[in-house]
Amino acid sequence: MPDAKNNVKPKIKITINKKWCKKCGICSAFCPKEVFTCDDFGTPTVKYPEKCIKCMLCVVRCPDFAIEVEEIKEKVKKK
Ligand code: SF4
Ligand code: SF4
Repeated sequence: MPDAKNNVKPKIKITINKKWCKKCGICSAFCPKEVFTCDDFGTPTVKYPEKCIKCMLCVVRCPDFAIEVEEIKEKVKKK
């Protein structure tokens, strides 16, 4: 929802550090909004970032500190 006062829409950016990730699937299993998908090798991919509610469960549950969730504010273009 755009912030009417500042005309700024918050956007979530989810980053997985592939070097640190050991493909355990915990992030995918705990995410309540099914933001991640995993391939046959267990490698997680951020598939639906727009569904993220920023609960941070994936961040706190990841045993390798491989996930970062941040909020980016971007200007909404006037129509
Ligand atoms: S919880 Fe962390 S280590 Fe496990 S698959 Fe997800 S990002 Fe990789
Ligand atoms: S912050 Fe919560 S909703 Fe967002 S990707 Fe992580 S576990 Fe899923």
